[in-house]
This record gives sequence, C-alpha cells and structure tokens, in this order.
Amino acid sequence: MILKLGGSVITQKEKPLTANLKAIERLSREISEAKVSHLILIHGGGSFGHPLAKQYALKEGYKEKSQLVGFSKTRQAMETLNKLVVDALIRQNVAAVGLQPSAFVVTSSGRISSIEQQPLGKLLEIGLVPVLYGDAVFDFDLGFTILSGDQLAAHLAMQLGASRIILGIDVDGLYTSDPKSDPSAKLIRHVTLQELRNMQHEIEEAKVTDVTRGMLGKILELMPAVEKGIPALIVNAAKPNSIYRALKGEEVTGTTIVKG
Ligand code: ADP
Repeated sequence: MILKLGGSVITQKEKPLTANLKAIERLSREISEAKVSHLILIHGGGSFGHPLAKQYALKEGYKEKSQLVGFSKTRQAMETLNKLVVDALIRQNVAAVGLQPSAFVVTSSGRISSIEQQPLGKLLEIGLVPVLYGDAVFDFDLGFTILSGDQLAAHLAMQLGASRIILGIDVDGLYTSDPKSDPSAKLIRHVTLQELRNMQHEIEEAKVTDVTRGMLGKILELMPAVEKGIPALIVNAAKPNSIYRALKGEEVTGTTIVKG
C-alpha cells in the first residue's frame, strides 16, 4: 500500500520551514495502530520544499549557477522535514527508514525515467517502512527539476503492484471546485476514470483557478495507476482517524477513484 501525506497537512503552509508537529505525531500514531504490512510512505514538501523550489526556479531546470545553492537548500530542507516525520514514526514504534529519492530516481523532462528499485524492495521485504518525499532530483534533459510526491506515489504503485494508493490532503477529497473558495463545492465520493476525463475537459474549458488546476494535476498523476487497476482514495489527513480508517480499509469520508 502507498500512503502519500500532503505537505499541506504535515507543515504550516503559510509559515516557511514550519512543521505541523501535532499532525505528524497523530498521523504517526494512526499509521502505527493500523499495522499495515508492506507500506510505503511518501510525504510532500509544504512550507519546507515549495517556497525554496519556487525562489530558485528549480522545476524549470538548471539555467544559471546561482540556482545551485538553491538546489542544496531545497534538498536539505526536505531532509529536515523527512527527519521530523521519521523521528515521529520511530517514537510510535514504526520501523521507518527515510530514503532520499534524488539518490535513486532520475527524471527526463520532469518524468521519472530511471529508478533503482532494489534498496526499496529489500527494505519492504524485510518489513521496514520506507519514508520517501517529493524532492529536488537530477534530470537527464533539465539538469535538475522537482519531482512531486504525487508522481512518485503513482509510479511506485505501478512498478511494485500496490493494492491501492491513499492520498491524505487537508480537505475531505476531490470536490466539484475548490472547497476553500467555493462554498457550493460538492464532495465527489466515487468517480471512474471516464467520468474524470469528462470533468477534465470541463475544468480546462472553464479555465478555472490555478489552485484547482493544481488539484487536477494531482488527479492526472494518479490516473495511469488507476488505469492499471490500482484504486486511489483521497481523504482528509487533517481529520483524526481518516488515515487510520483508510489504511484499515474501513468506511471513511473521501473520494474513491476506480478504473470503471
Ligand atoms: P498537498 O497537501 O499535497 O500539498 P495541495 O495543497 O497541493 O496538496 O492541494 C490540496 C488543496 O487543493 C486543498 O487544500 C484544496 O484547497 C485545493 N483544491 C483546489 N481545487 C480542489 C478540488 N476541486 N477539490 C479538492 N481540493 C481542491
């Protein structure tokens, strides 16, 4: 099973380099109590990764020398956040091990093109819980770029044949529009790939806000994995017990995305 925890849940998004330690501790407890075998945990960057990556335009690739220290700073900030998450998991007796994606994943024009799977596979096999994250990575075409935790989650799910992907964000799931700015937004409880494709056209034609397109980006990353028969579940990780229930396969408020 692949669990991706959004940066908006484990950090305070408006405050640079500030973790939400209470949320991290609670989520670690939920993960510990769920006792899932063969779990890969991936977390986002939130206020540790995004502001630095943006400041140094890392996603666009290597253009000038002044970006290099920005690459270092971003990698280091993600290491710091990863350590906070892994420390909390270990406190809850989870055999967690942080793994640095930039050391075993290389992208081509922003898409994962090469991945050294053996360390991750071995870790899983002996019952450890790898903890990965969205990272500043090396790219064959761009020099470097930003690899999102969402792309990593979907890619690993397909490569390793995951039973499902759980995405924890800070709202209840996928809505008809951004629930934070549109009070009439409705939660979509269940959606198929075909329904999503139709929605995608509507969203693109309506030229709605960047934020919603951000959410669309998340969904687009998940779609190839769902196409391969791996269901995805989006739940509110900021709400106590949602992640626990999702991991246990219990009834939980959220959005289920299935093939058909
Ligand atoms: P992450 O936690 O992975 O960093 P983001 O903050 O990038 O996640 O994306 C989640 C946010 O997307 C939510 O907080 C929500 O405000 C916003 N959002 C925009 N459009 C939608 C939508 N249609 N459904 C759900 N959330 C949406």
